[in-house]
Amino acid sequence: MGAIYFHIPFCKQACHYCNFHFSTSLKYRKEMLQSLIDEVALRKNELPDEPLHSIYFGGGTPSLLRPEEIGYLLDAVGKNFRFSSAIEITLEMNPDDYVAGYFDAIKKVGVNRLSVGIQSFFEEELQQMNRAHTAQDAYNVMEGMKKHFDNFSLDLIYGMPGSNLERWQKNIDIALSFSPPHISSYALTVEENTALAYQVEKEQVTLLPEEMVAQQFDRLVSCLTEVGFDHYELSNFGLPHYHSVNNSAYWQGKPYLGIGPSAHSFYTNKRSWNIANNKKYIQGIQAKQPLIEREELSKIDQYNEFVMTGLRTEKGVALQDIKERFGVKFAQLFEEQVEKHLTHQHLFWDGDTVKVSQKAKFLVDGIASDLFLLKLE
Ligand code: SF4
Repeated sequence: MGAIYFHIPFCKQACHYCNFHFSTSLKYRKEMLQSLIDEVALRKNELPDEPLHSIYFGGGTPSLLRPEEIGYLLDAVGKNFRFSSAIEITLEMNPDDYVAGYFDAIKKVGVNRLSVGIQSFFEEELQQMNRAHTAQDAYNVMEGMKKHFDNFSLDLIYGMPGSNLERWQKNIDIALSFSPPHISSYALTVEENTALAYQVEKEQVTLLPEEMVAQQFDRLVSCLTEVGFDHYELSNFGLPHYHSVNNSAYWQGKPYLGIGPSAHSFYTNKRSWNIANNKKYIQGIQAKQPLIEREELSKIDQYNEFVMTGLRTEKGVALQDIKERFGVKFAQLFEEQVEKHLTHQHLFWDGDTVKVSQKAKFLVDGIASDLFLLKLE
């Protein structure tokens, strides 16, 4: 099982909370497209010789490319890899890029799943985040997408400054009114070197108290699970048979190849990432020497990652899996480390597997980090 991720490093404008790699200048658009195509061929041996299960266009804003350009990228993949018959091909899009005929065109080149960055259906929240779309754009894209795609997802952000439970509830209700089979939802976080970090530092923006953010998360979980969604990963909810193949591949440690500036790759415990600079990325590809940094994960790194992803997903962390993958010593340490979180009822045993209790899900990243090993004692 292999997956390819394309990072399309262009955006119309910078959302205030975002620290992904992108440029608001389309100066190198043509060269970028060619470089993405060339990188696929240059790095085709960096995945196992197996059919691909997922191709994902993320960014940045992939919907800034024309559908036929997405088609050129898919052709490049088709020339170098085999596709599984059930391949999931996802494109992230922003509501302001929706124009008449878009969905038919994007379907025609092979995309079979869309993920739309709605974030909020409220104008003031969109403006506060400096999103490029309006609330009306959000409604329009959802209406159109529902008619053309069976498999789609939308992103929503909770914990917005100035928001409250009622407004959040309305966002959830509006989202559900479009009967989406999948929703991804993230808490607003303050990342370094973003406009939001500056605004918070200058006290121009006051963040929501943590308890309110946690309440919004709990509300999300209860509303979505009540109507049949599986809460299959901390930030991801899907109806049965609509869990994202792409995301699940990451969490299961499956190999993936990241194409484009700043894209990450993973295969046989080796991780690599491309340079996060559009011009240098293109120069590297043109010289047939991609600018890539690589690292090999130690056994302890692999274990820590295994614990983090396991606890974030509904699957949990099975003791037998730790024994088989890392050995008895790791399993003993894991059992000792989870003890105090059992007392606080943050974690519980489900047979041989440790899972996160409902009340502690919001805290899962902190709990998982607390279980990390720094060295084998
Ligand atoms: S559109 Fe997406 S990638 Fe671009 S700035 Fe906004 S959040 Fe970041």
